[in-house]
Amino acid sequence: TQRTLVLLKPDAVRRSQVGEIVRRIEAKGYALVALELRTATPELLAEHYAEHEGKPFYQPLVDFMLSGPLVAIVLEGERSIEGFRSLAGTTDPTGAAPGTIRGDLGRDWGLAVQQNLVHGSDSEESAAREIGIWFPNL
Ligand code: ATP
Repeated sequence: TQRTLVLLKPDAVRRSQVGEIVRRIEAKGYALVALELRTATPELLAEHYAEHEGKPFYQPLVDFMLSGPLVAIVLEGERSIEGFRSLAGTTDPTGAAPGTIRGDLGRDWGLAVQQNLVHGSDSEESAAREIGIWFPNL
C-alpha cells in the first residue's frame, strides 16, 4: 500500500468542487489519512515546487497557489500514486480525458498557469518529500 500527497488547489475551493473531488477519491477506494483546509505560504511552495523554479510559469503558479485556501490531503491505497494521477487526468484540462477530474471539471482559462484543480505526487520519492512538507508530523 502507498501514500500520496494530493492538493485541491485554490480553484477547486473557490469553485466549490472539494466535495465532488473527495467523493471521487473515496469512490475509488482510497483512505483519507489526513485532510486539512490550509493557506499555503511562499516558503511551503518554494519547497513543494522546487523543481519548477526558474520556469516561466513558476511565479504565476506560486501566486495562484497563494490566491486562496487549498485542501491538503494524504491518501492511502494500493498504487495510490499512479491511481490518483489517473483519476486527475492530464495537466491541461482541455485535453484531459472525460471521466477524469480535470477532464470533467477543469476549464482552460487561457491564463499563464493551468488552474487544473488538483496536484498529485508523481513518484514514491516525491510523495515522501511532499508529505514531509505539508504534514511533517505524519
Ligand atoms: P502533471 O505532472 O500531470 O503535469 P502536475 O500537477 O504534477 O501534473 P507539474 O508538471 O508538476 O504538473 O506542474 C505543476 C503545475 O504547474 C501544473 O499542475 C500546472 O498548474 C502548472 N503548469 C505546469 N506546466 C505548465 C505550463 N506549461 N503552463 C502553465 N502552467 C503549467
